[in-house]
Amino acid sequence: MKEIIKNVYHVGDSGCSVYLVDTNSNEGLILIDCGMDIEIIKRISKLGLNPRNIKHCFLTHFHIDHTGACSDLKNFNKQVKFYAHDLDANAIEEKGYDSMTAASWYGIDYKPVGLERRLKGDLEKVRLGLYEFQCIHTPGHTPGSISILVKVENTKVLFGQDIHGPFYKSFGSNLDDYQISMQKLLDLKADILCEGHFGIIKPASEVARFIQSHKDANLP
Ligand SMILES: [Zn+2]
Ligand SMILES: [Zn+2]
Repeated sequence: MKEIIKNVYHVGDSGCSVYLVDTNSNEGLILIDCGMDIEIIKRISKLGLNPRNIKHCFLTHFHIDHTGACSDLKNFNKQVKFYAHDLDANAIEEKGYDSMTAASWYGIDYKPVGLERRLKGDLEKVRLGLYEFQCIHTPGHTPGSISILVKVENTKVLFGQDIHGPFYKSFGSNLDDYQISMQKLLDLKADILCEGHFGIIKPASEVARFIQSHKDANLP
């Protein structure tokens, strides 16, 4: 667990990497994905952050390695509000999508959670305290994958959780959409990329190189 830049933290890894933004406001703490183990999330108390002050959680897509701990988090802290893209929302809110979410592959009984809001279209901006969370629709890995851009002082931080793939029919993957999505992310010229399985990538030149290499490796 460590601070990446001011108010932005890598909480830890359980299934995926879990990231946190401290809004320094009554909007509290924001999670980017939950991972699979709430105990990892609770460890933020070691940094002096209160896990009961987590008020919002953006889910980048419906995969179990990113959503598995959601229901435990909701039980621990009733005030948490979840957000995901409309096109991935059913598999988060309902049972019956175990091959799509990879729950069956992990052998996990996914417990659905309700969303506060279904994000729609190409871009939705959610302002929480100091920061604006730009939720950018980046389909490819799944139909409703989103990447989130937050400007912290003068640094553009991009949360792109599974931009490396993989791509399977059972996920609803689409490599044509993926090419367009990766170009969108390249155009952002982010300074730091917080990835779901490859950790923290910086500076901007490395972020571009990482995205471009995956884009090139996964042509339709
Ligand atoms: Zn995934
Ligand atoms: Zn993942």
